[in-house]
Amino acid sequence: MERIELKNQHIRMTREARTIEAMVLIYCHDKHGTRGESLCAECQSLLTYAGARLDKCPYQEGKTTCVKCPTHCYKPDKRAAVREVMRYAGPRMMFRHPYLAIMHLLVDGRREQPERVGKKVRETTS
Ligand code: SF4
Ligand SMILES: [Zn+2]
Repeated sequence: MERIELKNQHIRMTREARTIEAMVLIYCHDKHGTRGESLCAECQSLLTYAGARLDKCPYQEGKTTCVKCPTHCYKPDKRAAVREVMRYAGPRMMFRHPYLAIMHLLVDGRREQPERVGKKVRETTS
């Protein structure tokens, strides 16, 4: 796995990066048979995309969770793919990475939505 490297090293952003990495690993291990720190090409590509979005996120450490975000900067196909990963890996995170899971759900997910910045990406596929 190529880890997400962010310009902003704030603890909140680092935690966000470690959380999505852990979720993609769980998903890829169970669905695509990878092991250890390995990811298949498709999951690595999704993780790299998510990392790039996070790096450019207009809210940075003020962000809520992406699912509650008023901007939704993901392209529709990537958003659908990451949602599938979250749906599968979310419930499993509590057992495998309880600290990250609790922080994501109870701390980051309860933040106030920031005021919207930038254009909302349309839901339609092209
Ligand atoms: S969906 Fe929202 S919170 Fe998530 S990276 Fe994009 S702009 Fe930031
Ligand atoms: Zn995979």
